[in-house]
Amino acid sequence: RRTDHDDSVVVIGLGRFGRALALELVDEDTEVLGIDENAELVQQLSGSLTHVVRADSTKEDVLRQLAVHEFNRAVVAIGTDLEASILTASLLVSFGIQDVWAKAISEAHGRILTQLGVHHVVYPEHDMGQRVAHLVRGRMLDYI
Ligand code: ATP
Repeated sequence: RRTDHDDSVVVIGLGRFGRALALELVDEDTEVLGIDENAELVQQLSGSLTHVVRADSTKEDVLRQLAVHEFNRAVVAIGTDLEASILTASLLVSFGIQDVWAKAISEAHGRILTQLGVHHVVYPEHDMGQRVAHLVRGRMLDYI
């Protein structure tokens, strides 16, 4: 299905992780629809993202009004609020979005997201810890 949103990405949750991701996508000339229920965050990012909307992503009618079901790529960047993460991810999968990404804050959270049909689950803290370990070891070698 081809739509106006073919190359765009919807990023739901604009905390530290979602915001960095959304801004990086825009930097690389990708159109981004950012969604967060926090009015202050939405206000801060208006002007930096292609579109930013204050909305509750756990509501199907709200997501449909924003045409989220027409996107091919979506990221759920909600971590701490497990219920919101799961409800949102479940809706995105049920829309038939081709590429759904979600961040998980624990292994159990990630397992549930995978069971829901999320295509890519990422563990930012865990993965960054591993990467920094490699960096630390690399730097250590400089001193030997
Ligand atoms: P980070 O580490 O990236 O800062 P976090 O892992 O602590 O974030 P949360 O605080 O749970 O994640 O959520 C990130 C963002 O998602 C917050 O800005 C929050 O307002 C937003 N969010 C949470 N629930 C919803 C929801 N139902 N609809 C829209 N946005 C939501």
